[in-house]
Amino acid sequence: MKNTEICQHCGGDYIPKRRGTQKFCSNSCRSRYWYEKQPQNKVSKKNNLPQISEENLPTTEVKPASNPQEEKMNFAGVGNAAAGAAIVEIGKKMFTSTQNRPATKKDIQELKDLLTTRYFPIHNLPYDQLGKAPYFDIETGHVEYFHMNNE
Ligand SMILES: [Zn+2]
Repeated sequence: MKNTEICQHCGGDYIPKRRGTQKFCSNSCRSRYWYEKQPQNKVSKKNNLPQISEENLPTTEVKPASNPQEEKMNFAGVGNAAAGAAIVEIGKKMFTSTQNRPATKKDIQELKDLLTTRYFPIHNLPYDQLGKAPYFDIETGHVEYFHMNNE
């Protein structure tokens, strides 16, 4: 990607070494430009030059270090695709809801327990008229209502 720019002093094309900060084809053009703008200054060229403070780093494409898609694929390999996706969501919620503390053995056991069950409690749906709790059936994708077991 070679973007040529026009030198503000001599009008010639040039390829800037730094995008955005360079306005002249060469140091001599830059010096003359500022020198002519400030004819009252008779001191050396260097002292007349304005300091370019902004250091624009070269724009290079940065690839993300890890690929989250791959992670999901590995999770999905545990069971079927739907269950895998559900596990990922549950895992995220479980491990991020507690101030990002490291997963404990209890957390792992809870996650394992979840793998053996087909129904997941839904916390943002109200109970039905009979007081049954809503659950998500990962095999059918339906919402089912059951009485809570541990009450
Ligand atoms: Zn020039």
